[in-house]
Amino acid sequence: MAARATDLTKVYGQGETRVVALDGVSTEFRKGEFTAIMGPSGSGKSTLMHCMAGLDAVTAGSARIGDTELSALRDKQLTRLRRDKVGFVFQAFNLLPTLTAAENITLPLDIAGRKADEAWLEKVIKTVGLADRLSHRPAELSGGQQQRVAVARALAARPEIIFADEPTGNLDSRSGAEILGFLRNSVRELGQTVVMVTHDPVAASYADRVIFLADGRIVDELRSPTAEAVLERMRRFPSTVHS
Ligand code: ADP
Repeated sequence: MAARATDLTKVYGQGETRVVALDGVSTEFRKGEFTAIMGPSGSGKSTLMHCMAGLDAVTAGSARIGDTELSALRDKQLTRLRRDKVGFVFQAFNLLPTLTAAENITLPLDIAGRKADEAWLEKVIKTVGLADRLSHRPAELSGGQQQRVAVARALAARPEIIFADEPTGNLDSRSGAEILGFLRNSVRELGQTVVMVTHDPVAASYADRVIFLADGRIVDELRSPTAEAVLERMRRFPSTVHS
């Protein structure tokens, strides 16, 4: 088990501004599995990801990464857990402009004072097809290539789990398909665990399973999804259609 949510509840604000963002969510993210999270705007996708990644504290219930209960950790321990066990890929690539691709990829390891596992790093760089771009700076790379650097950076530390928040949101469809292919390869060939928030049925079809959120609850789940099946589910549960 890479991660698990049990009865996860997250409430923001109080009184009139109280919002139940997650309402008793239970699900497992198995090792070497690629999960897509879908649902309309405001259904709790980001909150679920943030709570699972230790970026946001839960109100009730439990979020675990591996054997670690996140609510039991102090801030410092949480920071360390995020650094050592969690990889992030965002819609904005978040690369440092003054560093080369290679330096961006190893930056989290360098900050942690960890040595890169060279064999692993080589494999990651090969998987994302960046071998001939390593000395380039972000401005000299296309959007797709920059996102590949961000994916390689997330993979470099061999995290327990990678959270990707609409990783193809800023890419044209060809670069998007490439990134999704790399994420899937990292699951298939490198055994990584990936959780991705997306609005796109085609993107979701790269995953091993899709969970559908509505009003802070999981309302459906689909295994080995095709884009057509995802669309069909979105229609069957109109509340999960993104507006
Ligand atoms: P999604 O990612 O599916 O669009 P979110 O997880 O961002 O949904 O939001 C779920 C609900 O929680 C929404 O109603 C949103 O307005 C609310 N929410 C999210 N973050 C905060 C916050 N920091 N403070 C108050 N309400 C929030």
